[in-house]
Amino acid sequence: MAAARPSEPAEGSAASAAPARRPEDSSGALLTIDLDAIAENWRRLRARLRAGAQCAGVVKADGYGCGAVKVAKRLHAEGCRVFFVARTDEGFALKPHLPDAEVCVLDGLVPSLANDYAAAGLVPVLNDPAQVEAWTSYCVANELRPPVVIHVDTGMNRLGLSEADALALAADRDALRAFSDAMVMSHLVVSEEPDNPINARQLAAYERVRARFPKAKASLANSSGIFLGPAYHFDLARPGYALYGGNPTPGKPNPMRRAVQLLARVIAVREVDKAGTVGYGATARIGAGGRIATIAVGYADGYLRSLSNRGEAWIGSHRVPIIGRVSMDLVTLDVSSVPPEACQVGDHAELIGAHLGVDDVAERAGTNGYEILTSLGPRYHRAYLGEVD
Ligand SMILES: *Cc1c(COP(=O)(O)O)cnc(C)c1O
Repeated sequence: MAAARPSEPAEGSAASAAPARRPEDSSGALLTIDLDAIAENWRRLRARLRAGAQCAGVVKADGYGCGAVKVAKRLHAEGCRVFFVARTDEGFALKPHLPDAEVCVLDGLVPSLANDYAAAGLVPVLNDPAQVEAWTSYCVANELRPPVVIHVDTGMNRLGLSEADALALAADRDALRAFSDAMVMSHLVVSEEPDNPINARQLAAYERVRARFPKAKASLANSSGIFLGPAYHFDLARPGYALYGGNPTPGKPNPMRRAVQLLARVIAVREVDKAGTVGYGATARIGAGGRIATIAVGYADGYLRSLSNRGEAWIGSHRVPIIGRVSMDLVTLDVSSVPPEACQVGDHAELIGAHLGVDDVAERAGTNGYEILTSLGPRYHRAYLGEVD
């Protein structure tokens, strides 16, 4: 083949005639997020709420790993108008996409940034008396009357005004003068355990506080809290996990629709012709006559190392165990029981999907589905179903 002269365009060369590179070939794993399913989950949750209650969308941690902006825009198209993020930076990034919605920042107010919250139109969820004081002074001084959300701690001992501080605030007639309307919220500790008496205790503590803010709106339930019944619904529910297809009722069938699929590409299949070990640390043994498929996913993708020798995958209709350690970039599957023609280089193994829900993966990894979702890494090729602009 003659070398192209530098001045000559390379048209007609093999490179330019090649078909476009496909992401499913060049990426290790394909993550598909079904925004239609997330939208349907939001409608299902809303349909469970008592009449008159609103349903928010919690999209912190990049929408539980699913893409906060895309998820929020899809939920907005369904009619969702209240969103929660954790970090102030998440709020700054999301709010421009949702000009007519309330974006509430659970981390609370950083007083030195009051100007920035106001300019962005963010709603800080005020977590302590100093934040209430700082935001009130700022809003009065600047003649703003934004809505306000006050977080009251009823048992988490993490964020929020103590019951005593909340009652002191309620006793101050002028306290919320700066705000157009107020919401008092709290957060449940064990809502996924309906029989745990802590739920009723938190509800009672919350009712005590809320009674002292008769004009404020009220919000208590996260995903699982919605399933504790209408007494927990108040004016606004704040589901996150269930939107993304996680089971808000552990131990019972999942009432939500699956929204996440993760497929990893098989990049090698090897016949094992003498007994040996597999992977780092020699933690697993395989005998002669076994077969190993190596897939292009690892802990650097957020595929947790605790799934070593414990996780599983599906290749077509075959369930296959992970053998050996999850390494940074690779996972090895024992495909000895799979007919060779059913597992070849270029095929994809399902790691999360129809056979294997987020909660199943979590159980095997010794964690919860929230961590599985929020670990979904940036190296996956992401495809979205049902995206809106
Ligand atoms: C994360 C969070 C939620 C959502 O909880 P899920 O269990 O994911 O539904 C609701 N409220 C607060 C305060 C949160 O931090």
